[in-house]
Amino acid sequence: MSQVISVREVQDMIRDGKNLNHIPADAILTPSARELIQDWEMDGNGKNGAAENGKANGSSPYVAGEHIAPPPKNLNSKSSKAELEAFFRSSYAQQLKEQICAMGRRLWEREYVDGNGGNMAIRVGEDIAICTPTLVSKGSLKPEDMCLVDFEGNQLCGTKKRTSEILMHLQMMKRQPKAIATCHCHPPYSTAFAVVGEAPPTCMLPEYEVFCSVGVAPYRTPGSPDMGKLVAELTDQYNTILMANHGVVTWSHNNIEEAYWRMEIIEAYCRTIVVAGQLGKPIQTFTGPQMKDILSIKKSLGFVDPRYNMKECELCDSGEWRPGATCQAPQSGEPTIGLDAEAEAAVKAITDQILSQMK
Ligand SMILES: [Zn+2]
Repeated sequence: MSQVISVREVQDMIRDGKNLNHIPADAILTPSARELIQDWEMDGNGKNGAAENGKANGSSPYVAGEHIAPPPKNLNSKSSKAELEAFFRSSYAQQLKEQICAMGRRLWEREYVDGNGGNMAIRVGEDIAICTPTLVSKGSLKPEDMCLVDFEGNQLCGTKKRTSEILMHLQMMKRQPKAIATCHCHPPYSTAFAVVGEAPPTCMLPEYEVFCSVGVAPYRTPGSPDMGKLVAELTDQYNTILMANHGVVTWSHNNIEEAYWRMEIIEAYCRTIVVAGQLGKPIQTFTGPQMKDILSIKKSLGFVDPRYNMKECELCDSGEWRPGATCQAPQSGEPTIGLDAEAEAAVKAITDQILSQMK
């Protein structure tokens, strides 16, 4: 079996002045180890050797268990304690734990979490998941902090106690069988939308439309079964859920990295539209056909979205998706201009006045 090299080992090698090009070509690099090697190379160290090692391991380092044998097929909450422990200590589980730590670090560095806020989970069997512990900052997570739980939230392995918000993640996974990974945090701009209980207006930036389908769940006490239920019900149609007066939770059918990406994308989007709204210019939005194109890309990626069956004219002009606008799809491919009820009323009043003067 190939040697697995963690970020700590790479750090030790760099510290000891060892040449990273000597890492065996068939070694499996953990995601954070690979990132560190890439940084090291970009800083002008080494040439191609270490990068080639990275490439030898495949295209995406974040696909769960891509290079390491996955757990036994029927592993579940009823498996023996010994089987569960063996799995929890396996290289496969180790890789997933390191992915969670890497994502935690990125959440913390981007200031999407404060204190011990935020939590993540990865489904690893029929009804079991690896998740983050309670009372640990996402900026300092270690693989050995992780927990294994069943879908009722009972802890099966791990020395630290699992997060109190795990029930929500598990209810999402139960309700949405495609959900492999879930990520929850409190990014400020997106959470501001959650505080006003409103999904951001759509039809402005393609990346957001492709990766995020945003629903809003009403407020319930964090960690309560009711909270989990309300969020879980939205996972049929949405992969990014604003939790009113709380934060955001995302899920992915691919891996934890993608669930994390959704956080970056919704947060950047919310920041951008808040700034765009202050520029004193009308907001340009996609036309219906432009939006239809984006949604077809989204569909091909297997992402859920409640708009797939909507008519083109409804996509960027419907009251549901852009409050205050009416269904008026333009004839040409020109971008539409954001319609504001007040501005429209003012334009109508002026037009009426001019028309009456012309009589
Ligand atoms: Zn929270």
